[in-house]
Amino acid sequence: MQEFDPQVLNEKPIAPPPEFQRRARIRSLDEYGKLYERAKNDPEGFWGEQAKMLDWFEPPKKILEWDVPHAKWFIGGKLNVSYNCLDRHLATNGKKVALHWEGEDGKRVRLTYAEMHERVCRFANALLGLGVKTGDCVAVYMPMIPELPIALLACARIGAIHSVIFGGFSAIALIDRIGDAKSKILITADGGYRRGHVVPLKETADKAVESCPTIEKMIVVKRTGEEVAWTQGRDLWWHELEQKASPHCPAPSFDSEQPLYILYTSGTTGKPKGVLHTTAGYLLGAMYTTQLVFDLRDDDVYWCTADVGWVTGHSYLVYGPLANCTTCVMYEGAPDFPKKDRFWEIIERYKVSIFYSSATAVRAFMAWGNDWVTKHDLSSVRLLGTVGEPINPAAWKWYFDVVGQKRCPIVDTWWQTETGAIMISPLPGATPTKPGSATLPLPGVITRVVTMQGESVAPGETGYLIIEKPWPSMLRTIFGDDERFKRDYWSRIPGVYFTGDAAQCDADGYIWVLGRVDDVIKVAGHRLSSMEIESALVSHPSVAEAAVVARPDEIKGEAIVCFVTLRSGHSHSAALQTALIEHVAVTIGSIARPSEVRFADLLPKTRSGKIMRRLLRELAEKGGVSGDVTTLEDMGVIQKLASAKALDEE
Ligand code: ATP
Ligand code: MG
Repeated sequence: MQEFDPQVLNEKPIAPPPEFQRRARIRSLDEYGKLYERAKNDPEGFWGEQAKMLDWFEPPKKILEWDVPHAKWFIGGKLNVSYNCLDRHLATNGKKVALHWEGEDGKRVRLTYAEMHERVCRFANALLGLGVKTGDCVAVYMPMIPELPIALLACARIGAIHSVIFGGFSAIALIDRIGDAKSKILITADGGYRRGHVVPLKETADKAVESCPTIEKMIVVKRTGEEVAWTQGRDLWWHELEQKASPHCPAPSFDSEQPLYILYTSGTTGKPKGVLHTTAGYLLGAMYTTQLVFDLRDDDVYWCTADVGWVTGHSYLVYGPLANCTTCVMYEGAPDFPKKDRFWEIIERYKVSIFYSSATAVRAFMAWGNDWVTKHDLSSVRLLGTVGEPINPAAWKWYFDVVGQKRCPIVDTWWQTETGAIMISPLPGATPTKPGSATLPLPGVITRVVTMQGESVAPGETGYLIIEKPWPSMLRTIFGDDERFKRDYWSRIPGVYFTGDAAQCDADGYIWVLGRVDDVIKVAGHRLSSMEIESALVSHPSVAEAAVVARPDEIKGEAIVCFVTLRSGHSHSAALQTALIEHVAVTIGSIARPSEVRFADLLPKTRSGKIMRRLLRELAEKGGVSGDVTTLEDMGVIQKLASAKALDEE
C-alpha cells in the first residue's frame, strides 16, 4: 500500500526549558538512553532494582515468570499496597498534606498523611466488620470526594478487590459491571455535585441493585444531605461505620500477585473489558512512572484532574502519587463551574506545580479563550501533562504558550487501562518534545510499530503499535474471560502485546500515536489517519475540535467527513466550510481533501471525554446510530448531529 508523507507530523523538536532541566532527575537524552539500554539488556535486573522503591514485608525470590501471555512478577514477595501508600510515610511525613480536596460547591477538606491513614484504617475495619474477606469484590460508585481514595486504600489494605464504576454511569452500566465482578458491597453517596446540579447516585444505585443479587450491603457517604430512599438492613451510612470502627488496623502481608482491582475500559471502541491488575507490579509501575515522568520533588503540589472512575485516576491520583508521598489536589466538579476559570483558580489557590489533564480538556480550554487562563497567577506551575487521546499539535502549542507560559515542559503520556501505567512519554528534563508525539518509550518498555506480520515499518509509515516484552504493571487477564485476553491482545500478532492503536515512528525513533487501528482511513489507495486530518483542522484559527471519519465512496473507496466545533467568537457558514476543506487540502495535500465538513456544537464523547468516532462513522454512513451507546456521555449530541444533517438536506 502506498504511503503518504504526513505534513502535520513534521513538528520540530523543542528542547526542555533550561531552568527545568537544571534541576531535573534525568537531565539529558544521553542519561535517558543509558537507563533505557540497561533496562532493555537486563529487564529482570532492572525491575528487580526498581522494586526496591517499594516496602516489602518479604522480598521477592524471583522477578518474573513469563508463560506467554501470562506473567507473574516479583514471585514470593509479600507487601501491602495501603502500607506503601500511607504507613511507611508516617514517621517522617505524618504531618505532610496528602490531599487538598475541593468540592464543586466550594467546600474544602485537607488531609495529612496521618489523618488519611487513620480514616483508611477505620474504614478498612468497617469493611472487615461487614464480613468482607480477601479476594471479595467491592463496587465503588462515588463522586470525586475524599472518601473515594479512602475506600480504595481500605480495600487494598484488607485484600479486597475494588471495582470503580464512574459516577456518571447509568443503572444499566452499573448492573453489567457489578454482575460481571460479582461484587458483594456497593459504596456510593447520597449524591455529588456536577455543574451546580446534584447527581443522584444513591437513586441510580438503588435502581441498579434491584438487579444485582450479589450485593449484600450498600454503604452511603453523606455528601449533599439530600433526602434519599433507605433500605433497612442493607443500607449503611459511611460516617456511622467510620465513627464506630477502631483506628487501628494492621496491614496484613499479601502476595505480589494478589488481585488489586478490576477496572472496565472506557468503551471507545466497543464493549468495555474488565481489566485485572494485581499488587506489586501494578504499584511499582504507578510509583516508578509518577516519579520519573512527573520529575517529582518533595515540595510539589500535584494535580491530576482525572476522575477516579478511569485508570488515570487510579494510577495518578491515588496509587502513584501516594506511594511517592506527594501532596495531591482533588476537585469534585466541572471545569466550567461556576465559570470557565475554575481550574486556573484552583491552581492559583493551592499553588499547583504539576498539572496533569486530558487532551480533550486542553481543547476545551483553548476553545474558551485565553482570558480565562491569563487572569490567574499560574507561576507555581512547572510541568504540564496530557493523556487520553493524541493531542493535536495546535492544542499542544496553545497549552505550552498560554498555560505553561513557555516555561513548562509538556509530558504527552501514552498508555492504556491495560498497561496500568505510562508507557511512552517524554522525560521532562531530558527529552526534546515534538508537539503531538508522545516521544519515546520509558526505560523498561519495549515498543515497536509493525505490520500485521510483525515486521517493523519504515519511518513515516503507519503501522500497529505493539509492546514486545512483559512489564510489571501489565494487565494479568480480562476478568472472567481469559480467552478474550488472549485473543484481543496476544494473538493478533502472536506473542506480542497488541495495543489496538495505529502509530508511526519517525526517523528519531519518536512515536506518533495516530489513534485506533479502526480509525485509519483509506482514500484512493492512501492510508490517512483521522488524527492527521483532525490536527490540520485544529490548526485553523476558527477550529476548537475536530473528528474525522470515512464513509464508503464508490470512486475513492472512502470519502472523508469532518465534524468540527468552533472556538468562541466564530460562527458556522458555508464560506467557512469551504475554507476548512481548502485548509486541509493545502496543509496535507489534495488527497486528504474532505468531501464534507459538518459543524457541531459538541462531539459525541465517552464519559471519559474521548471522541467516539465509531458513532460518527455510523452517522456519516447511515444517517443514524444503532451501535452500543452505553458509554456515550450525552445521547442528545448524536440526535442533534443527525437532525442538523437532515435540515441541510431539505
Ligand atoms: P476501549 O478500549 O474500551 O475502547 P479506551 O481504549 O478509550 O476504551 P482507555 O484505556 O481509557 O480506554 O484508553 C487508552 C487509549 O487512549 C489508548 O489505546 C489510545 O488510543 C488513547 N491514548 C491514551 N493516551 C494517549 C496519548 N497520549 N496519545 C495518543 N493516544 C492516547
Ligand atoms: Mg482501549
